[in-house]
Amino acid sequence: MTASVLVVEDERKIRELLRSYLEHDGLTVITTGSGAEAIQLARDTAPDLIVLDLRLPDVAGEEVAREVRAAAATPIMMLTAKTDTTDRIRGLELGADDYVTKPFSPREVVLRARAILRRAGTVPDQDAPVSYGSGQLIIDQARRQVTAAGHPATLTATEWKLLATLASVPGRVYSRYELVNRTRGYEYDGYERTIDSHIRNLRRKIETDPHAPALIETITGAGYRLAVTRDHQSPATTAATRLPAAGPITTSQANQNAGGGPKPSSSPCGSDPSAQVRPRHPW
Ligand code: CA
Repeated sequence: MTASVLVVEDERKIRELLRSYLEHDGLTVITTGSGAEAIQLARDTAPDLIVLDLRLPDVAGEEVAREVRAAAATPIMMLTAKTDTTDRIRGLELGADDYVTKPFSPREVVLRARAILRRAGTVPDQDAPVSYGSGQLIIDQARRQVTAAGHPATLTATEWKLLATLASVPGRVYSRYELVNRTRGYEYDGYERTIDSHIRNLRRKIETDPHAPALIETITGAGYRLAVTRDHQSPATTAATRLPAAGPITTSQANQNAGGGPKPSSSPCGSDPSAQVRPRHPW
């Protein structure tokens, strides 16, 4: 599985810019502009990292961080327009692993996100199997092995891609069209209809009762989703992967860990998003 990032930012342009940059870097991105929804999404999707704006319209970022930290050790990178040192220190005390002050370069956020994921062990431990639904489903990306209800399943390449896509954000509904794109690209016009038969085959291999599927749910008129949540602990790993860092890090450490504090390679965003965010990206 690729690492997943939850981006919480109420300014749509900044949110979508961060999504573009993080997805371009190969990360799975979930976004929301609501603090309340962020707390729910953090619980339901167990992201590997949360990029959290402090100023949100409903629930303050500080409160979101507190709620998330009460439930899981998910790393948090705070986005803040506040330049007051006290606010930064409070953010770090709340368990933020890093923070970026607006205006920021989206590229810098990506580099820092990578650094946090490396520190948290998420990137190196991509090789570790990931467990869903209290161990009902275990996906071992590195070895291309799937275990369902304790039994290994042998999947075709298409079934594998389907399952990996659905499992990248448990609970999210994927339309047939999306599933076609993720599994085959655009080359096949009539492929959308055959998704159903691949899903049927996949269910035969991983569901205890394929006629009453518990893992892959059909959402009528919308598509399919993985009906089990990701477990917080990988089955084969314990302390190393998801425990928090020993303590908050200082800004200078954060800069070092972000790769020596690279110069922003693109225009900063956040100061005046309407002026800074361009419709086309520089890559
Ligand atoms: Ca905001």
